[in-house]
Amino acid sequence: MTDDGFETRAIHAGQPPDPHTGAVVPPISLATTFAQHGVGEHRGFEYARSGNPTRAALEECVASLEGTTHGLAFASGLAAEDVVLRTLDPGDHVIIPDDAYGGTFRLFARVHERFGLAWTACDLRDPDALERAWRDETRMVWAETPTNPMLRVVDIAAVALMTRERGARLVVDNTFATPYLQQPLALGADAAVHSSTKYLGGHSDVVGGFVAVRDGGWADELRYLQNAAGAVPAPFDCYLVLRGVKTLAVRMRAHCENARAVVAMLREHPAVTEVCYPDTSEVAARQMRDFGGMVSFLVRDEATAIDVVGRTRIFTLAESLGAVESLIEHPARMTHLSAVGSPLEVDRRLVRCSVGIETTEDLVADLRRALDSAAP
Ligand SMILES: *Cc1c(COP(=O)(O)O)cnc(C)c1O
Repeated sequence: MTDDGFETRAIHAGQPPDPHTGAVVPPISLATTFAQHGVGEHRGFEYARSGNPTRAALEECVASLEGTTHGLAFASGLAAEDVVLRTLDPGDHVIIPDDAYGGTFRLFARVHERFGLAWTACDLRDPDALERAWRDETRMVWAETPTNPMLRVVDIAAVALMTRERGARLVVDNTFATPYLQQPLALGADAAVHSSTKYLGGHSDVVGGFVAVRDGGWADELRYLQNAAGAVPAPFDCYLVLRGVKTLAVRMRAHCENARAVVAMLREHPAVTEVCYPDTSEVAARQMRDFGGMVSFLVRDEATAIDVVGRTRIFTLAESLGAVESLIEHPARMTHLSAVGSPLEVDRRLVRCSVGIETTEDLVADLRRALDSAAP
């Protein structure tokens, strides 16, 4: 299975036809408990918080897409991140990006800091900044690439090298790129984390999270915490993510193509002062297959940004991203509100688009019309 191509693994890894019925789709296994032959003798499943067949299929499939055999599915992206942070001790220090998903920052700064976790935010594109942020207690570097919402690109291999030399771990939030466009573990990262709510699920109908790791020992520790803390996904949610993942490659190709057309229009539009898209990054050209479906841009002021996000017809004004339908939002007042006053505060002139897979020309025209009629 590991020799098979990405698309083949997305459809078949962890999901052979059901041995009892031949069903080609893994059944949604709702049982909370599993009969034992004798005390402590079971067929791999005991109690459904610890594991169930639908979740096992999802874990094997997405782990395979990330290039490993160790994968854990969670009830949300933040539940996945939380368990990764629980492998640290009070007094440990983590270096986090100065541009990242707002909820990730909130988890570090407002939740884990209370239990003794120290953190420093820095621009991970800059090796000198990373050097300055490093402390004796640094045990982990948390990267996001491309970043949410500025679409900055971090050199995973370079940061992995520095992190490994100093005996710390590198975690990469791979939500924006997905394993189709970028393989953090192959580039030297210790873990790839996901909000499967986004591209893995792909249809805005399931909340989920995932952690894929290279090291079996760390995987055991994470699995212990996953069971002990209990933020596991429901079997139906696992089924939805598995179903989404089957079309991940074709969806990502369509997202990238549409984003490219949107970016070309934005770069020509007089109301747009700056476009954020990873195609300008030489590191992205090296470590990504293509540049993804997320596009951000700046306009002259906050009022214009708020006006534009209210004027689109096909791009729906909403939080979240990564699904077939196009979404638009104002990060400073929506997804990144929790970062106000922090090193991760977002420019108020910024608009973020999740470019969906609708007809290319319709998306370009919709956004152009909104910008044309935006307040002068
Ligand atoms: C949405 C998101 C998360 C959080 O995931 P949830 O599934 O909403 O808990 C983490 N990282 C990134 C980059 C995200 O976009």
